[in-house]
Amino acid sequence: MAIRKLLIANRGEIAVRIIRAARELGIRTVQVHSAADADSLAVRLADEAVLIGPPAASKSYLNVVAILDAARATGADAVHPGYGFLAENADFADAVEAAGMVWVGPKGDAIRVMGDKVAARIAAEGAGVPVVPGSDGRVDEPEHARTIALAIGFPVMIKAVAGGGGRGIRIAHDMEEFERLMPQASAEARAAFGDGGLYLEKVIERARHIEVQILGDGTRAVHCFERECSLQRRRQKVWEEAPSAVLPQALREKLCASAVALAKTVGYRGAGTLEYLYDDASGHFYFIEMNTRIQVEHPVTEMVTGIDLVREMIRIAGGEPLRYRQEDIALRGHAIEVRINAEDPARNFQPAPGTITGLAVPGGMGVRFDTMLYQGYTVPPFYDSLLGKLIVWDEDRPAAIARMARALRELAVDGLPTTKPLHQLLARDPDVAAAAFHTRWLEPWLDQNAHRLGTEETTE
Ligand code: ADP
Ligand code: ADP
Ligand code: MG
Repeated sequence: MAIRKLLIANRGEIAVRIIRAARELGIRTVQVHSAADADSLAVRLADEAVLIGPPAASKSYLNVVAILDAARATGADAVHPGYGFLAENADFADAVEAAGMVWVGPKGDAIRVMGDKVAARIAAEGAGVPVVPGSDGRVDEPEHARTIALAIGFPVMIKAVAGGGGRGIRIAHDMEEFERLMPQASAEARAAFGDGGLYLEKVIERARHIEVQILGDGTRAVHCFERECSLQRRRQKVWEEAPSAVLPQALREKLCASAVALAKTVGYRGAGTLEYLYDDASGHFYFIEMNTRIQVEHPVTEMVTGIDLVREMIRIAGGEPLRYRQEDIALRGHAIEVRINAEDPARNFQPAPGTITGLAVPGGMGVRFDTMLYQGYTVPPFYDSLLGKLIVWDEDRPAAIARMARALRELAVDGLPTTKPLHQLLARDPDVAAAAFHTRWLEPWLDQNAHRLGTEETTE
C-alpha cells in the first residue's frame, strides 16, 4: 500500500530525520508529541501535530491507545517508530497493522524472535553464526544460574533478555558477586523493560563493537557493510565510524554474509542491525544482538554508501521491492559520527537540560548535523539527552578525523553544557588516530582525562 500520510511515533532528532525523508518522498507527516514537546523542531516541521499526553513517556510516547487514536483522527496510513520507545514492541507493530495501517519496520513476529536476545542467539546459532559462549536460554532458577556461571567461567556478563540502550547489563567477577548481582539485575530489568528475564555470556575482553546494517524487503536482503562503535561509556555508544578501521577485507565479507544469512531466516523487512563483538587479536567475531529498527548511528552508513536508509525503509514498508542488489552497494571513503548530548562531561556526564541561547551549526564539504536544536529552544528534562549528531565524511579516516576536529571547532551550542569537549579531545587523541581501542578503552581514559573535560578547545 503506497503511503500517503505518515505518523511519527517518536521525538527529537530522529523525528526530524523521518520528516525530512517523508517530505522528499511526497508523503505528508503527522507528529505526535507530549505536552513537553509542543515547541519541538519536529512539531514545527511536520504537516500536522497531535498532542498525545503529558511529559512522562509512559503517558505519551509509550501510550499505544493515544498514538493509534491520533493516527485514526488524522487519517494517517502508516506509523514510523524511530528508535527507542515503541520501536521494538512487537505488539504495537501488530496493533498498527490490525488497525489497517502500514508499520514501517519488520513484521511483529520478526521483532519477537530477534528482539528477545535469547531467541535471537538461538536463531543465530541455527543460521551458523557464532555467538558469545553463554547460557542456552534464560537463567531464572538460581541453582541452574550458578551451574551455568561456573561452566562459562568468571568474569560472567549478566544481561537482560529484553535489554537495550546499554541498560540491564552487569559483570560478576566471582560467585559471591554473581549471587549479589542476579536479583538486582532481574529487578532492574523488570522495572525498565517489563521483563525480569536474564541470560549469561562470557565476557569478551578487549573486544571491539562491530555491527552490520541490513536492508530487506521480506524476500531479499542485502548488507550495507559495517560500523564500528567501540568508543562507549556505560555500554552506550559515543563515537561511531564506517567502515571499521581494523576489519580485514576477508573477514568483512564473512561478517556481512553472516548478517544477511541471519536476516533471511526471519524474512527480514526494513532496516535492521546485527551487532557483534570482534576480537582483533584472534580474528573471531560473535553475534550479540539484533536491533530491529533504524539505529542512532545510521548516518555513517549513509555517508559511505550513498543510500538514504530512512527513505529506503519507508519505500519498502509501502510495498516497493528493495532497490539495491548487493553488487550495487559499495563503500566509499570514511565517515564518523559523534553524539552531542546535553550532559556535562566535567560533572560525570550529568544530564543538563536548559535553553539554547546561541547556536552555530558547522558546514562545509562532508559535514552533516542531524539535530533537534534551534536557537531559543528549551531542552526538556524528561527524555534522552541526545541533542544531535555531528557526522563527517572524507576520503579516508585521517582526513575524516581532521574534518571532525574542524567541524567541532565551528559548532557552538550556548546555554547548556554538551559533550562537545569530550569529542574535541578524542579527535586529537593518538590512540583514536591509530584506532587502537576497544569497548572498555574509553572509561579509564575518561578517568585519566577528567580534568581536561570541562573546557572547550578554542586554540589549535
Ligand atoms: P543504537 O544501537 O541505535 O545506538 P541504543 O541501544 O543506543 O541504539 O538505543 C537507542 C535509543 O533507544 C536510546 O535512546 C535507548 O535508550 C533506547 N532503547 C534501546 N533499546 C531499548 C529498550 N529495549 N527499551 C527502551 N529503550 C531502549
Ligand atoms: P544493548 O541491548 O544494551 O545494546 P548489547 O548486548 O548490544 O546490549 O551490549 C551493549 C554493549 O555491552 C556492547 O556494545 C559491549 O560493549 C558490551 N557487551 C555486551 N556483551 C558483552 C560480552 N559478552 N563481553 C563483553 N562486552 C559485552
Ligand atoms: Mg546493542
